[in-house]
Amino acid sequence: MRHYSSARRAAAIVSCLRLLFLPMLAVIAGCATSDIPSLTADDARFGQSEEEKNLLARANALDQELDRKGMLLETPALVDYLQNVGQPLVPKEAAQQVGFQFHVLRSPVSNAFALPNGSIYLSVGLLAYLDDEAELAQVMGHEISHVVLRHGIKSYEANRSRIVAAHIADMFLFGTSVAYLPYVASVASYSREQEEEADVAGLRAVAARGYSLDEAIRVFERIQEVKRGEGVEGSWYSSHPSNNQRAEALRERVRKGEIPAGQHRGEGTAYREVAALIAEENIRLKLNARQYELALNAATRSLAEHPDSALYHFYRGEAYRSMGDDPKGAAREHGWIYGKSYNDKLVAEFEGRRNEFYQSAEKAYQQALALDDHLLVALRGLGLLNLARGEYDAARERLGTYLAQNKTLSDRGYIANLLKGINK
Ligand SMILES: [Zn+2]
Repeated sequence: MRHYSSARRAAAIVSCLRLLFLPMLAVIAGCATSDIPSLTADDARFGQSEEEKNLLARANALDQELDRKGMLLETPALVDYLQNVGQPLVPKEAAQQVGFQFHVLRSPVSNAFALPNGSIYLSVGLLAYLDDEAELAQVMGHEISHVVLRHGIKSYEANRSRIVAAHIADMFLFGTSVAYLPYVASVASYSREQEEEADVAGLRAVAARGYSLDEAIRVFERIQEVKRGEGVEGSWYSSHPSNNQRAEALRERVRKGEIPAGQHRGEGTAYREVAALIAEENIRLKLNARQYELALNAATRSLAEHPDSALYHFYRGEAYRSMGDDPKGAAREHGWIYGKSYNDKLVAEFEGRRNEFYQSAEKAYQQALALDDHLLVALRGLGLLNLARGEYDAARERLGTYLAQNKTLSDRGYIANLLKGINK
C-alpha cells in the first residue's frame, strides 16, 4: 500500500542495519527483500520466483495436511461468517492475486496465523475469547496484511525463517503431530517491524469497513490478558511485541489522524451468536488437553451469558470431576497458568482438594439435570462420581440408567466395562 512506502523503507533500513553484523551473504539477501512489492502493486509478480513458488507449495501442503488430519472445524455458519467478515478487509487488487480462505483450527490455544497463499487460521481458543466483530476484524486485518505485504517471502529471503521452513519439511517427512505446526508457521517468521506494519495496515482496513477503532484496538489488551492468564508459549502472542504497547502505538496514530477514525460498528450481538457455535468445542478441547481450570472458566463465562443452559453446567461438572480424578494434571495446569513451579507440594495441595472438587462437580451435574432431565451425560457424570467415591450401588443405578436410555452411545463399551468391574 502506497501510504506505507516510507515506513517500509524505514523498516528495510533497520533490518539491513541489523544484518550488517551477520555474514555478507545475509546482508545481500536481507536488503534485496525490500524490493518485493505488496500484492496491491501493479508489478507484484506474485508467485513467480522459485523461492516464492516453493513457499506457496509448502503453504498448500500445510493446508491439506491440517484438513486431512481433521484439525479444522467446518461448521458452515461459522466458516461463512468468517469469510463474510474477512473478505471485505482484503484490498481489491490483492484479492485478484490470492484467494483468501478463513479457517477455524481445532486448538484450545489462542492463536492466529496466515500462510503466504492467503490461508488464514484462527483457533477455537482465540475465537472464544473475542468479544465482538471489530476485535475479530482487527485480528483478521492483521493476518491479511502479512499476506498482502508479502512478509512471508520477505522473511524467507531475509533468511529468518529458512529454519522454520526446514522444520515444516521435517515434520511432513517424519509424520510428527501437526499440533504445533501453527507455532512453527508463525513464530520467528516476522520481524517486529513487520508486525507493526501489519497492525497499521490491518487497522486501516478495519477503519475503512466502518468498525469502531476503539473496539478493534482493544483486542490487543484482551490478548494481553490471555497471555498473562495462560502463559501461551510459542503462539501468536509471545512472538509479537508487547500487546499493550501495540495498542498504545495504534491509538497514537489514530490521535494524530494517521488512521481515519472508524464509525461505531462493534456488532457484539452478531459475534456472540457465532461465538456460541464454538463455545462447546472450546471447552471440550480444553478438557482433552487437561486444561481443566481454563475449561471451567470458559464454561462459567458461557453460563453468565446463557444462565439456563444445562450444557454449560454439565461442562462445569466435567471440569471439576476431572480435577478430582487427575490432581496431578490440575496442579500442573495451575502452575502453568499462575507461573508457580510444579512440585510435590502443589500436587499434594490438589490431592487434598479432591473432595471439594467432587462436591462442586456433583452440584454442577445436579444443576444441569434440574434444567434438563434428558441430559444423560450429566447422569453419567454423577455415576462416575459415585464410582470414584466408592458408592457402588448409586454408581450401578445411574450408569445402568445411562446405558439403558440410549443404545447408540460411543462410550457404551467403556461404561459397561466399568459396571462389570464393580459387579464382580
Ligand atoms: Zn503478526
